[in-house]
Amino acid sequence: MTDRHGRIFVVTGIPGVGKTTVLDASLEAAKTSGMGEVVLTNYGTVMFEEAKSKGLVESRDQMRSLPADTQREIQRLAAKKIANTAKNKIVIVDTHMLIKTPEGFLPGIPIWVTEALRPDTIILVEASPEEIAGRRSKDAARNRDVESVEDIKLHQELCRAAALTSAEIAGATVKIIMNHDGKAEEAAAETVKLFKALKR
Ligand code: ATP
Ligand code: MG
Repeated sequence: MTDRHGRIFVVTGIPGVGKTTVLDASLEAAKTSGMGEVVLTNYGTVMFEEAKSKGLVESRDQMRSLPADTQREIQRLAAKKIANTAKNKIVIVDTHMLIKTPEGFLPGIPIWVTEALRPDTIILVEASPEEIAGRRSKDAARNRDVESVEDIKLHQELCRAAALTSAEIAGATVKIIMNHDGKAEEAAAETVKLFKALKR
């Protein structure tokens, strides 16, 4: 990888699998491990800030209903913004491999985002489709799509394919981390182990 920026880890997984939960716990653990400056960026939040400032949406969960072209444009702006923050730091990008839009699955890391971010590693946080369905229905803080267990399974399988495609472009490694019910701390410990292994 070039020296344009430090390490970039892309952390993905379908909505409600627990990316943000696992990352918050990982960052807490990483603080005491002498890993240097670790910056956590949520791609959706950066996109939401862009979309809100343009008056396109009022809540982040409205973004996936925007026309796919609009989502692509916002995605492009967010990639540039994140790549610019990454100089000499470890940047963790919490994002989605695929966004389920009314026009079909939209890649979260299309080629231009992959090229802008040039991730070193793509982490796929996974759980069983039943666990994910349960978490979505219990989490009142967000307005996630209701999907059948079959659809969740398909969504998760397609994310694996999308992760490998982005990894092929970036030459990134792909790691699957399981986040089973009640095991977020274990998933966080595995994530920190990976951050440490890949630290330059
Ligand atoms: P999104 O992509 O929509 O932002 P996410 O992958 O970041 O979703 P979280 O918000 O971290 O998902 O978690 C979704 C819900 O699942 C939350 O209510 C969280 O507390 C719960 N959760 C996460 N991990 C676990 C776990 N290992 N066991 C039980 N509940 C969990
Ligand atoms: Mg999240």
